[in-house]
Formats: sequence, C-alpha cells, structure tokens
Amino acid sequence: MPKLAPSGKLLLMTTQKKRLGDILIDCNLITEEQLKEALGFQRDRGMKLGEALTELGLVTEDDIIWALGNQLNISFIHLNPDIVDTEVSRMITPEFARDHKLIPLYKAGNQLSVCMVDPLDSRPVEFLEGKFGVIVSVSICTAFDFEQTYSAVYGPLDVQEKVADGEIDNTEKQNFERGIPKGMEGPEKVINYILGQAIINKVNRIHFEPSEKGVLIRFRSNDVLSRKIEIPIKVHHEVISRLKKLSQISERDLSREGIIVGHFRVTVSNRQVNIQSIFYPTVNGEMVILKLSDFGSIVEQLGRAGKSAIEELITAVKTTHGVLYITGPRESGRTTTHYCIISSYDAETKKMVTIEEPVVAALPKTTQIQIGSSGIDNARSGLNLALMLDPDVIYLDHLSGKDLTQEVAFAALGGKTVLTSFLAYDASSSLVKLLETDVDPVLLASSLCGVANQRLVRVLCPKCRQPAEIPTEMLDLINEEDKSRQIFKPRGCEGCNNTGYAGKTLIIEFLPANATLRQMIINRQTYQDFRSFSRKQGIKSLEEKTLDMMLNGETSADEFMRLF
Ligand SMILES: [Zn+2]
Repeated sequence: MPKLAPSGKLLLMTTQKKRLGDILIDCNLITEEQLKEALGFQRDRGMKLGEALTELGLVTEDDIIWALGNQLNISFIHLNPDIVDTEVSRMITPEFARDHKLIPLYKAGNQLSVCMVDPLDSRPVEFLEGKFGVIVSVSICTAFDFEQTYSAVYGPLDVQEKVADGEIDNTEKQNFERGIPKGMEGPEKVINYILGQAIINKVNRIHFEPSEKGVLIRFRSNDVLSRKIEIPIKVHHEVISRLKKLSQISERDLSREGIIVGHFRVTVSNRQVNIQSIFYPTVNGEMVILKLSDFGSIVEQLGRAGKSAIEELITAVKTTHGVLYITGPRESGRTTTHYCIISSYDAETKKMVTIEEPVVAALPKTTQIQIGSSGIDNARSGLNLALMLDPDVIYLDHLSGKDLTQEVAFAALGGKTVLTSFLAYDASSSLVKLLETDVDPVLLASSLCGVANQRLVRVLCPKCRQPAEIPTEMLDLINEEDKSRQIFKPRGCEGCNNTGYAGKTLIIEFLPANATLRQMIINRQTYQDFRSFSRKQGIKSLEEKTLDMMLNGETSADEFMRLF
C-alpha cells in the first residue's frame, strides 16, 4: 500500500501551489486585463497559458520561469543555457550537477531555484538547503535538455575534473541515476509522489500518456486536464508494472489483449481513496488512467439536495424491498448512488454482495464479485454466486437481456433487495425498456420497488458567474412569469480552476412502485402513459428540475442543453 510523503518538502510545495496567471500578476509582470486577454487567446488556440502570454508578447519565457520559481511547486520547464545564471551555476561543482542531474538556475534573496531531471530525489535539495541556508524550489526538465544545458554551462559531460567539494554521500547514488533505481524503490517513489499530489489537489483522474519522447502525466480536476510532470519512458515501464501489481492484475489478465482494469486503495490522512486503474496499449507504450474516488468526498460533493434525493431512495428501498432500478446516461453518477445506498445498510446485521464489471471502489464489509475474475465470466454466473452467498442486498451494476432481468426479479420475489442499473433517458423510458425485455410484466410489476433516473448537473461557481440571457430556443420551455428572470453563465476564476463551475449536484426523478403503477406495467402501457402518470403524482422531470436550477442561477443554459 503506498504511503504519502516521499518527502515532506514536496508536499508542502504542493499545498502552496498557485496558478501561473496569478503568479505573474503577483510578480507585476502582467495585469489582470492582460491575463484575461491571454486566457481568451489560449482558449481559442488551444495552447498553454504560458505560450499564449509569450505569443502575445506580454512576457518572455524567462519571465515565466523566473516567476514560476517563486511558487513553491515543481514545474516542468524547457531548460536551456539562457535561463541559467552563470554565477549561480558556480554554487555547485560540475560533478554534483552531473551526479544529481541538477542545475541551479538563479537565486533571489534566500530562494534558490534549481532544475532537476529527477525532482523526486530530495537529498541533493536538502544538501543545498543545509549548505547555503536557502530555500530551494525545484523544477523538472527532460534529460535531453539537461545534457544540452549541462555541456553549455559546465563543459562536456565526460571530461569533468573530479572535485570533491559539495559532494554528498553517494553510496546510494547509482540507485537514483536517471531516476531509475534498482528494485522497486524508484517506481514506488514516483507513484507515491504522483498520488500524493493528486489527492492533495483533489484530482479525480490521472492520465499517463506515453509518446516517443517520454510520458506525460496529466491531472484532471473540475473537468480540466492540466499538464503536471513528465517522466522518461524507462521509468514508465517500471511504474506500470508496479501499478499493475498494486492493482492486483492477475497473470491471466496480463495475457489478455486490450484494456485491463484493476483497482487498489491508498490511505492518506485517514482518508481512504479508491483507485480504479485502466491500462491500455498504444503504439508508444502503455497508457494508464487512474480514476480516484474518495467515497467520502464524493458524497460530500453531492450537496444537500443530492444527499436528500438519495435518502428518499434509501427509505423507499428499505420499506418496499424488491428491485430498485437506477438508470441514467453514462457518467450520471449511478454507481455513487448505488454505493451510498449499499453503505446505508448495517453491515453487522445485513449481508451485501455486489456483482460489478469492474469493481469501481472498495466498499467496507461488502462482498464484491468482479466479473472476469475467479471463474466468474459473466453477470449471470456472478448473480448465481451472489445468491449462494445468502445475501440480503444484491447490487448488479449492468442489467441487460431477458434472462438476467428475469433472474433479478425472481431474486427480489425471493425476499432479496436488488439494486441494479441500465442506460435510460428518464424513469418512464426505463419502464418501457424493462417491458421490451419481454420478461413477464406480472413478474416485473410484482418485484418492483421503484425506478429512479438521474443526472449530475454542474453547479455554477457563485463567485464568478455572470448574467446571461435565456437562449431563444429555450423560451418555449419556460413559464411566462419566469421569462424575465435573470439567469447566469459561467466565467471562471481562481476559485473554480477557471471552469466557471463549482462541483456537481445530483438530481433524481424517482417513481416508486404503487398499485396503479404495477397495474400499468401489467397492462404494458406506453411511454406517454407512464410519463403523464409520473407528472400527475407530482414528480418533477429532470428537465424541470434543471430548468429550476437554471432560473435560480444555480446552473447555466449550456448545462441544460448539454444534458437534455
Ligand atoms: Zn469561479
């Protein structure tokens, strides 16, 4: 199990991370107005902010590197001799620079900025801080850039005179050459560092993207991918095999072609974070995506509205039993809802079994069966196994086909509570889809607890949202008296990572089973019938709920149109 903190220093640096734009403003290099201009330019051209700023002639690359050095964080830079202060470079011996692949760039006050190929090695940093009484900030560069710059600053790599001054204990040095250690210590360090950074920054996805030159590691948080770090291909191979080991990928999985999925857990500051790892071969090497889910924080992020919507489902499923179908499009948060319901049961008195493909996160005191492992080849054999385990609650993540739908309904009639899921647009169409499986409608009706359909709606950042007009194509959907209401659109600020949105909330359309609904199912009634029945029951559709959110300034018209 990887632990956090390869070095306390690096983590401290991370927590003080600031955005490039704000750093440049703080350093009086650009104004707020110029930043806005550059952000617009950047978005239009799909380039990095730094590139946009230099392209517009607002700052030079050196300005940026200098400013970045002022933030206590590791930044990737294109190291070249022009950004090295020759006087500062003489603070260390060429030998020290070569052995640790480190070049000091400049010194400002008691701050020393250095560039390293392997910034995960904290020992030379500690050495420099001890020797010169400075605070060292580290940036990362490619080995190629390092070699070019080294030769220009200190002379050719091979013909260095051996100078003992400034040398630190090098007994372990070989282990860290080029960041590729013997054994597994190196990849572990890399993984710990990356996961530590990701968890502290509330990142939910980490992408490892191999190219011919190296591997780019990018973090996604709040729907934005940001470039974080680059590692050499060779380290990447070791990182991958370590990640596979952590993810408990079996030999059998390794011999399989295509996507391999596994999962593991890390504990950071008493928070358990579940990580789903996805490995996929590309022409340049294996691509990895790590999906982080901190179950506690997901539930926190759902907000009060989302939580009370789930509460309603929990109450229903505990009083009515039967099958609760939770539907929605992809990425609508269905797994989260299921997991919330499962974890609401008392594990001391109830037995919960899940059948998943893949297991997304580990649930405490729950038996989780992964399809594709230990002889469980499909959902049906998973369900059979689950039923043999004498469960009270069963969760089957993907329901499809007549046989499975029928088995699930029979299990519910046998007294089990069943949670299951499939793709559907709304609650009414979910019922129609169930009828289309051709399972006996009497069976479907008598085993039904209810149908819930859901969406995750992005919530506007309250700090930076700006007034907007209701789009003309939406006017038909809105009541006359609401047409004059002020709605808002996203803008983007530091608080929301320039996305304009501050998290997501969950909305659910829940249609609980009752005598009328059961009869309607037995009669095989139509989509329109179910829909108007639902409205008569006073159940708002998800479109209506999202429109309300838009009219209350909680979400944007764009978000409505993205969802419906
Ligand atoms: Zn904002």
